Amino acid sequence: MTAPTLSRRVFLGSTAIAALGAAQIRTAAAETPGDGFQYEITRSEAEWRARLSEADYNILRKGGTEEKFSSPYWNAHDDGQYACKGCDLTLYSSVWQVYPDVGWAFFRHAEPNAILMGIDGNPYVGMTDIRVLSIIEAHCRRCGSHLGHILTVGKTTLHCINGAALNFTTGPV
Ligand SMILES: [Zn+2]
Repeated sequence: MTAPTLSRRVFLGSTAIAALGAAQIRTAAAETPGDGFQYEITRSEAEWRARLSEADYNILRKGGTEEKFSSPYWNAHDDGQYACKGCDLTLYSSVWQVYPDVGWAFFRHAEPNAILMGIDGNPYVGMTDIRVLSIIEAHCRRCGSHLGHILTVGKTTLHCINGAALNFTTGPV
């Protein structure tokens, strides 16, 4: 099944997105979305370390960003679902995946009740061509792991997600 009214491939032509990989993106850790908020799944530091590789830990638990084109999901075209590497919650369907060809996984929408948002301040360290004071951060509703960001470019809003934060399972959508 494919989304009937939307092209699965978009061409943003955006220097803003293309430039994302040009600088170290500093993001806030996702553990504090609000006072008193309790994630459904919590793990000790040792448990997170045991579950995730060092590189994945730096993304999911420290708000890091993978090198663009480092995950094959930026150009994955199989039908299926993407789940959080931190807790296995299904986050995105391939139905809504789009391909701006800048090296990360992009989705028009998330699955219902899957994504929470935060604000990352001054995320573009060392970049002088983008004037942004903050950016919307996307993290897992169930375990709080950092996934990526939600970007509005022109008239398009997309979830720009680290492939390393996801596990893909092929299947009907
Ligand atoms: Zn999760």
